[in-house]
Amino acid sequence: MKLILLGAPGAGKGTVAKLLSAIDGSVQISTGDILRGEVQAGSDLGRQAEEYMKKGDLVPDSLIMGIMEKRLQAPDCAKGFLLDGFPRTIPQARALKELMARLDITLDMVVNIDVSRDVLLDRLTTRRTCVNPACQAIYNIKSNPPQKDGICNKCGSPVVQRDDETAEAINHRLETYNQKTAPLIGFYQEDGMFHNITGATSDIVVNAIKSELGM
Ligand code: AMP
Repeated sequence: MKLILLGAPGAGKGTVAKLLSAIDGSVQISTGDILRGEVQAGSDLGRQAEEYMKKGDLVPDSLIMGIMEKRLQAPDCAKGFLLDGFPRTIPQARALKELMARLDITLDMVVNIDVSRDVLLDRLTTRRTCVNPACQAIYNIKSNPPQKDGICNKCGSPVVQRDDETAEAINHRLETYNQKTAPLIGFYQEDGMFHNITGATSDIVVNAIKSELGM
């Protein structure tokens, strides 16, 4: 399947992408995960992105499009992909449309995972993430804590609160989402492949997507 997953930070895009990926092998492409990997590796790209990310600002569109242009042409995308956290601005959505036309890729659907602000805030402040760039497993101290406190079940690396998941950065990220990313809903509604799914749980969202796709 070839999907764009839209939704505010904390809406569950990453969790839904992982569940969908397990169904048919479509790859999850999370620009946030890619950028965090670059920051940890200390690459040029990571150094350019780091300050924006810490503050909860968006990384410039040109850097993101450079990443995505390469990523969408990798062989593993042929099976399908789940775009998680991209596009995040109207210019990115326009550039993606042009890129897909050039690469002859057709999307199946754009899904907006719709979650209330209270739930988003609660999820983001209690979320913890594995620091290993190759893992980045997500936990929640209330609903899904690691078996050993602060240690990833999957790879044994430390599980921490992200720099951009302090109360201040979270508020800023939600503001940025409302200003820059929420307008994508209108953009894709006009395209006619848009589906809004109220995401009480990730399983509900996954089942709704499967039924829309006739799976
Ligand atoms: P995420 O893990 O998707 O919440 O992304 C974490 C941070 O990475 C965001 O707050 C942005 O600073 C940056 N980022 C991720 N994806 C994008 C994107 N498509 N455009 C701009 N910045 C992004």
